[in-house]
Amino acid sequence: MKFREFAWTGLLFEVPEEMRFSRQGGDTRMGHLMLEAENYMIEAKWEPFEPKKAKSLSEVGGSLVEQIKKQSKNQSVTVLGKEDTYVSKHKALYMIVKSRAEERVYLWYCIESQRIVILRFVFGVFDDNAKKITKRVLDTLQCHSEKTNIWSLLNLRFETPVSFLLTDTKITVGRAHFLLVDRKLSSFADQTEKILVEYFSMANLIYEQTYRDLDKWFEKNYLKDLSKKLKEGKLKFKELRSTGLRRHKMEVKQGTAKSGTTWRKTTTYTNASWYCPRTNRIYSVTLVSSIKRPAFFKREIDKEAHSKLWEDFLASFECH
Ligand SMILES: [Zn+2]
Ligand SMILES: [Zn+2]
Repeated sequence: MKFREFAWTGLLFEVPEEMRFSRQGGDTRMGHLMLEAENYMIEAKWEPFEPKKAKSLSEVGGSLVEQIKKQSKNQSVTVLGKEDTYVSKHKALYMIVKSRAEERVYLWYCIESQRIVILRFVFGVFDDNAKKITKRVLDTLQCHSEKTNIWSLLNLRFETPVSFLLTDTKITVGRAHFLLVDRKLSSFADQTEKILVEYFSMANLIYEQTYRDLDKWFEKNYLKDLSKKLKEGKLKFKELRSTGLRRHKMEVKQGTAKSGTTWRKTTTYTNASWYCPRTNRIYSVTLVSSIKRPAFFKREIDKEAHSKLWEDFLASFECH
């Protein structure tokens, strides 16, 4: 069995290649995801917690079993086993819950990311293969990191600083986007950075007229949409340069804007778009840096920081 990396908003583990990323919701603070194969599935949920008010793991486990009971209505639900264990160096609770199928549940508090994580494995039959899969997921699992979060899904991989939180995402047939935001507020400044990653599938069909000319595609098929998504007003870009990413030709553009009266805002945004023939996708990624301050304060974007962030982000990007 072949495994591959899967990573989503601060959780990383390896799953069998055949697993499909079938559902997700919420954001970095609180959310869930599901991966499915023909006879089994893996579900993860995470929620923030207050260390002082945190319930014990076995209390949380107890209410989880109650929830499963409610969901399975007439089915009897029994806890076949319960023991302490460790996941990603955190003390964890492990339970085997039997309802229609046998479920393996792991739950733990991740102090570093300030979340409680609940991981559920449901297998039609808990055979050697199931054991192997569970072990691999747990052995490779990382629930927090110090510097960057890895995103690895749908043949796509990139890294963002941990301070960037997922705030909006949609994955549908044909397109997907991920919006990550890092906001630093102080009494006289509101500093926000946004990374938007977006891709469009079957590009040679859907954008038959423009997919070979990404500048044209950008103007005709994307710019309006992008302005709407970023909520930064009407974006005006200047061509910056043509360069490359993983042997694909890439168009880079940049723009700046100023707005506001009492609190004034300066914004710089950079975009790169390219066509990846290996996945037949058009990728378009944007970084926005903005600073908002009262009128009498100096407002300058740290250009070096903006380009460093941009370069690091692009260097981490794998589109196929
Ligand atoms: Zn952790
Ligand atoms: Zn590619």
